[in-house]
Amino acid sequence: MTSHTHPVKLSRTFKTKAGDELSIGTGTGTKWKKDSKLDEINQELVDQILLAIKLGYRHIDTAEVYNTQAEVGEAIKKSGIPREQLWITTKYNPGWGDIKASSASPQESIDKALKQLGTDYIDLYLIHQPFFTEENTHGYSLIDTWKILIEAKKQGKIREIGVSNFAIKHLEALKKVSEPEYYPVVNQIESHPFLQDQSKNITKYSQENGILVEAFSPLTPASRLDANPLTDYLEELVKKYNKTPGQLLLRYTLQRGILPITTSAKESRIKESLDVFDFELTKEEFDKITEIGNANPHRVFFHEAFKDL
Ligand code: NDP
Repeated sequence: MTSHTHPVKLSRTFKTKAGDELSIGTGTGTKWKKDSKLDEINQELVDQILLAIKLGYRHIDTAEVYNTQAEVGEAIKKSGIPREQLWITTKYNPGWGDIKASSASPQESIDKALKQLGTDYIDLYLIHQPFFTEENTHGYSLIDTWKILIEAKKQGKIREIGVSNFAIKHLEALKKVSEPEYYPVVNQIESHPFLQDQSKNITKYSQENGILVEAFSPLTPASRLDANPLTDYLEELVKKYNKTPGQLLLRYTLQRGILPITTSAKESRIKESLDVFDFELTKEEFDKITEIGNANPHRVFFHEAFKDL
């Protein structure tokens, strides 16, 4: 049996420059996020990324606000893997609440990312979230920022441009000012059984509009919550498929046509997270997870921001 006996259908697929299809990503946020004032490289994170690469990951997720771009750059350099076989995603930080954008402008943010990553192109560059205030961004609106991303794509600094934590109205606003070839191609959002839609209808809308949905925090029911309404059911499936709850949740995400980004510091989990292509949840199992999820909503990030979205 090949490892791709049960392929999944994502709403959009991408290839690395070397021509390999984009698969599950390893993240450098949450647990690894580093204080913005720290310049020193976190060697533990470099080693963790190197381990993930050794175990087969080619998709690495970072962001200006995590302050981990330098670690990703260091790992790329040390990995010995040709740059074109990797897929690197990073994100512009527009600031949040009382905290200002990390860079004086989106251009500066892009150039800093290239430098810290030690690369001359970024595979995917996202606007981290749409909750802009021009005071935080030093005068750049969401639309100004999107136009700067388009320019950077034209210049070859970025291969693909997309967004994160966007609701339908934010995506529509970008479409209004862009030619179709410069519409956003990815929306990275919180997604797991207990949060089927980070904002109203966002998954369906994104997928119907040729946007790949990427899930952050896909393991929430297994990692962030103690015993919960899914625990017993996942245990049943663990016995049936001989997979861990984490693998079942990643498989569920993929079967929704969503590409997961996951994080772990444990070698066994980093490894097992890629081993989710040799089984398939039945429709009944998939529907039951959805049903239990819908009945028990739980959001980890951006509570207030999504109150009316
Ligand atoms: P996950 O849902 O993968 O959660 C990771 C956590 O779950 C780790 O602490 C890990 O701990 C634990 N874990 C992993 N496997 C299991 C398991 N089988 N059972 C129990 N616990 C487990 O994703 P994250 O929330 O970390 O998000 C992934 C990435 O997405 C981030 O690193 C970041 O790159 C990105 N992200 C983007 C955001 C955005 O706004 N765009 C917001 C948040 C994240 P352990 O190390 O012990 O295995």
